[in-house]
Amino acid sequence: MTLARYACDPALSRGRRYPELPAPTRSDFQRDRDRIVHSTAFRRLVYKTQVFLNHEGDLFRTRLTHSLEVAQLGRSIARTLQLNEDLVEAIALAHDLGHTPYGHAGQDALNACLKTHNPDSAGFEHNLQSLRVVDALEESYPAYNGLNLTFETREGILKHCSKRNARHIESREPGGVAHRFIAQTAEGPGLQQPSLEAQLANLADEIAYNAHDIDDGVRSGLLSLEQLEDVALFSQYRRETLLAYPALQGRRLLFETIRRMLSAQVYDVMDATRLALHHAAPVDVQAVRRHPPLVCFTDAMALQSAALKRFLLQNLYRHAQVVQTTLAAQQVVRDLFEAYMGDPAQMPQAHIDRFDGIDTSQAAGAKPERVVADYIACMTDRFAAKEHERLKGRAVFPLDTPGLT
Ligand code: MG
Repeated sequence: MTLARYACDPALSRGRRYPELPAPTRSDFQRDRDRIVHSTAFRRLVYKTQVFLNHEGDLFRTRLTHSLEVAQLGRSIARTLQLNEDLVEAIALAHDLGHTPYGHAGQDALNACLKTHNPDSAGFEHNLQSLRVVDALEESYPAYNGLNLTFETREGILKHCSKRNARHIESREPGGVAHRFIAQTAEGPGLQQPSLEAQLANLADEIAYNAHDIDDGVRSGLLSLEQLEDVALFSQYRRETLLAYPALQGRRLLFETIRRMLSAQVYDVMDATRLALHHAAPVDVQAVRRHPPLVCFTDAMALQSAALKRFLLQNLYRHAQVVQTTLAAQQVVRDLFEAYMGDPAQMPQAHIDRFDGIDTSQAAGAKPERVVADYIACMTDRFAAKEHERLKGRAVFPLDTPGLT
């Protein structure tokens, strides 16, 4: 397929940190995607929380199925806009690799643990951790740590970054993936955006979770279809569905409504982005990086999407039952952090070996609290719960959560 001139061309990639010969049949971005799919961190996503904990039901999204949905939406849009589908897919599949067990609850708890332990700590942030996984923590290849991905995939993975963390990355990799987060202060408005493929993976993430969290919310019984009538983006497609199929109800009605809602957002992004590209007329990827974001919704869809997000925050993510689970999950993470900091021998030897300088690998020479954070962050929900039970002698999560199927 012909790529647009502003798409990322693997032949023009800024390359890998450790130079490698090209693969005989695959582009560099295909190869990145394949490395991600074969990584240990990717397999762990199947047992990591999206919103509902893994043990709460077999049919809820996990980080893995979420990432697959993001990749599907991203690929569809990329193909239509003549962007690089392989790169979007690689970024989408890797974007959540750095998530802790128990989703944002786990991340917040781990961040607080690091900051409490050392107020000067950089804390914990899942985007940065995703980069750390692919740059340093995966141990699969003989010649280096990490997956040695291309600049473009790594740039897409580092979606957000604090200035402080960006400066740290910049000191090791001048002009590299973190440069855009500090470019503004250093040299005025410079290269501040990532590639279109990275922008697209980011927006596809948002479209995916807004839609599947409605589905999972209703499945769990925490959201009702009546409540969702307050959300314009949902109710208009529910009405449209009922006009076409007046007798439709239950799961089929919900699925068809969400399907139509997803399609509308996908076509909206295609139209709005095409128009933005037409006006900006970037000649290449560097021109894209200098320009404000170009992958976007129309203004009307952006407002509707924001309203849906607010609804989900108020009614699902802050639902009493979700909050209760969140508090328990945070306790697990805090207890694990304290237990390993108090007695590192409770961790496998390979992790202890990463304490200052024993191991000369890139992920080593780390402070003990970072090693502990890396170990906890990589855990699946159920492994964290098992470890907690082993170390504390009690189970935190009841096996059967009433009301959830
Ligand atoms: Mg995500």
